[in-house]
Amino acid sequence: MWSLKNIPKMSVLILAALGLISWGFEPHRQINRRACLLLPEPMFGFFRHHIDFLTHHATDPDSRRYIDTNEAGKHFIDLEDYHEFCLPIDSIPQRWDSLNIHYSADQIRKFGSLPWNIFFKIHHLKNAFKASDTMLILKIAADLGHYVADAHVPLHTTKNYNGQLTNQKGIHGLWETLVPKLFMDTILFSMESPHYLESPLDSIWKFIEESHSCLPLTLEAEKWVKENLDIQKQQQYVQNGKIISKTYSEEFIAMYHKRLNAVVEQRFISAIKMVSNCWYTAWILAGEPNLPYSLNDEKPITQSPQFELEHCDH
Ligand SMILES: [Zn+2]
Repeated sequence: MWSLKNIPKMSVLILAALGLISWGFEPHRQINRRACLLLPEPMFGFFRHHIDFLTHHATDPDSRRYIDTNEAGKHFIDLEDYHEFCLPIDSIPQRWDSLNIHYSADQIRKFGSLPWNIFFKIHHLKNAFKASDTMLILKIAADLGHYVADAHVPLHTTKNYNGQLTNQKGIHGLWETLVPKLFMDTILFSMESPHYLESPLDSIWKFIEESHSCLPLTLEAEKWVKENLDIQKQQQYVQNGKIISKTYSEEFIAMYHKRLNAVVEQRFISAIKMVSNCWYTAWILAGEPNLPYSLNDEKPITQSPQFELEHCDH
């Protein structure tokens, strides 16, 4: 942590970077990694063998945003825009074919296509399992884990994705990068086996609705902390490599976390379970094919990588 007076003026590069915008990179990696551990055999042997790949590549979709202009819209859904700025969610066409009757391709790209993207990825993964194409299975599974995790973040379901419409800029990184850092290494969750999703699209919409229902508290809690914490104590400077950034103070993050009453933890755990459900469902749909590597010929699981304060755009 740095105090302002200790920082030479010209060398300070103050970025709002930590207030930018998806689960941070490390939460994405941890969600994919922990989802592997819930799978039953024979999936478990295969996913465990490739657990480092699935961990490291959990953030590939965010990296692609810089080279593929069609990528960004796959990470979010601005629900207000879909219903001409007025909810309820259940008035939005849930099926892709009916959506395309009501909205142009440009509108869908702009408003976001996260639920349908997840649905298509499940079917792409099914096809990869059917083809026994190991590299394709791994790449699609890593991507699918990323998108499912994004859909568990309330701020991925709204056009006010970074609080920019309510004078709360930076809240995206606060919610999904800074708060998870407080619990990610110690959080406990039950090792429930995944279950087959009878109707994947219905399940996807259900967790998106759950995420969206957390939005009022997500915004209200940040306002409450701003009103109840001395303004001098609300921000701090941190150094990440050569970059010095202004961000929320530790006290602010802790108060926000407490005010949210474990909502971020619940969404984090729900994301882990739903990633394993989606992988498992794709494998069942593919006809439960055999997979290379069993539990007996596995290498030990290595330590997970160090936490990094990075995150992607909306
Ligand atoms: Zn993302």
